[in-house]
Amino acid sequence: MVTLPVIACHECDLLQRKIALPPRGRARCRRCRAILYRDYPPGSDRALACTIAALMLFLIANAYPIVGLEVQGNRQTASLYDAVRTLWVEGREDVALLVGFTAMLTPAIEISLLIYLLLPLKFNRVTENTVPILRFLQTVRPWSMTEVFVLGVLVAFVKLEHLARVEAGIALWAFGGLIPLLIIASASFDPEELWAKATG
Ligand SMILES: [Zn+2]
Repeated sequence: MVTLPVIACHECDLLQRKIALPPRGRARCRRCRAILYRDYPPGSDRALACTIAALMLFLIANAYPIVGLEVQGNRQTASLYDAVRTLWVEGREDVALLVGFTAMLTPAIEISLLIYLLLPLKFNRVTENTVPILRFLQTVRPWSMTEVFVLGVLVAFVKLEHLARVEAGIALWAFGGLIPLLIIASASFDPEELWAKATG
């Protein structure tokens, strides 16, 4: 007797047996109608391309100034690292840790893990620790808040405009590009495909 694999609904936890889908078909939960899985061409190539592009933009975002300020002829620039260090030195350790964690550390972890998982998949291989890494990725992802950070910088721009001449640095544009790339990478990345390969 062939036992069909079981899948738990991510919305209501109802366990259901998986069935084969027609091309581009979708399976919905019997109870809450949430989409359980789809049949579509693997998006792992697109996800990998977007993640590598995101890595390049992330490196630029951390290496170049995020903002330039000109007050009475004095021009100063600051990178994200400068901002975190200044917050720390000025006694705002909690804010410094929060910015460093959500805008620097977690996006770096998210991008590294995605590349670590997707690159072997490109060569039809599965990374050894795929299952724990997938779990860790799901835990880390909500803490990656580059969009909140960019929004915060834009609000600061508006507030500072009447005090100084404010210019967006290369890093801010890089962060702006990083956000849609990570969204596309995460939308194209199908953990189901990886999970199925990892668990045989
Ligand atoms: Zn459900």
